[in-house]
Amino acid sequence: MIRFTSLGSGSEGNALLIEAGGPRGTRLMIDCGLPVRQALARIEARGIDPKGLDAILVTHEHGDHIGGVMGLARKTGATVCLTRGTHAALHTRSAEACNGVTLRLIDSHDVFELGCVEIRPFPVPHDAREPVQYVVAYGELRLGVLTDLGMLTPHVERSLEDCDGLVLEFNHDPDLLAQSTYPDSLKQRIAGRYGHLCNRDAAGFLARLSLDRLQHVVAAHLSQSNNSPEHVLTAVREAIGVVPDCFYLATQAEGFDWLTLQPTL
Ligand SMILES: [Zn+2]
Ligand SMILES: [Zn+2]
Repeated sequence: MIRFTSLGSGSEGNALLIEAGGPRGTRLMIDCGLPVRQALARIEARGIDPKGLDAILVTHEHGDHIGGVMGLARKTGATVCLTRGTHAALHTRSAEACNGVTLRLIDSHDVFELGCVEIRPFPVPHDAREPVQYVVAYGELRLGVLTDLGMLTPHVERSLEDCDGLVLEFNHDPDLLAQSTYPDSLKQRIAGRYGHLCNRDAAGFLARLSLDRLQHVVAAHLSQSNNSPEHVLTAVREAIGVVPDCFYLATQAEGFDWLTLQPTL
């Protein structure tokens, strides 16, 4: 089985904890944009010893994803996996950023193994140096993660075709964003092709996926200013008629609790 939980989701910090193959299997995080002390406390609150963390997969260099990664890696000994572009961007900011951390530089198209899981990165359109998102595969099970992208591409959609679980960005409602007090440049960035996925695009993607296979879908990275749970649910209803029972919302303060993917017979 695979189980996964978010320690927080949104522009103030993202961290997703994943365990595959039970307590003796592989434990990893995707991103850690939370302060290290808070991340450690939240990992423990989920019943996990932070020292048992095998690796942290980084999606890109924005602070809400990478802010706590190196500090957490130093505390836990976890290996940090990141693309060359993300690594270069980090080094431009600080030459010492990765000191004392075991790094594994990855290619944004190449599958690699990590303990008992297979990691399948894929590139996404976002305003970072070499951003990727991931599918984590264990046996027949696939958990897909897709946040921080301005638009869906055929390659992104193909990469997530056969998922059993999906964490999907529902960033903003376009009308709320247009009416917000954000400066125009920021509005354009968020709504642009290298910004963030709006509710309608995310819900449209969901409508094109095979809902029969999906055991859990979590709406993630919701804007606290330009979105609301009601707006997300309305977009889902408009795209597929109903809100499926397996649909959840992640929050900035709480993330979401453990969800489990089981092999189907
Ligand atoms: Zn983000
Ligand atoms: Zn970002």
